[in-house]
Amino acid sequence: MMLEEKHLCENCNKEFEWYYIVPQHMSSGHFKTHVIPRNKSEVKHVNAHINKVPTNVTVHCSNCDHLNTFDVDVKNGTV
Ligand SMILES: [Zn+2]
Repeated sequence: MMLEEKHLCENCNKEFEWYYIVPQHMSSGHFKTHVIPRNKSEVKHVNAHINKVPTNVTVHCSNCDHLNTFDVDVKNGTV
């Protein structure tokens, strides 16, 4: 499962896209191959999570490279 969201940078006020690949359970049977999106910033650090879905992350802005820390609005908690 992959999260793809947008975030308004707190430094340059531009919206950028970020993504995060949620680690899968080894027992899930099969592995899905994810296509890594271009022009998107990968989440580098997850501060908190629920069932491996991040709820608070840090990610660099793709415009100004500012490190943003923010809460993720998890709408779908199933992995
Ligand atoms: Zn920025």
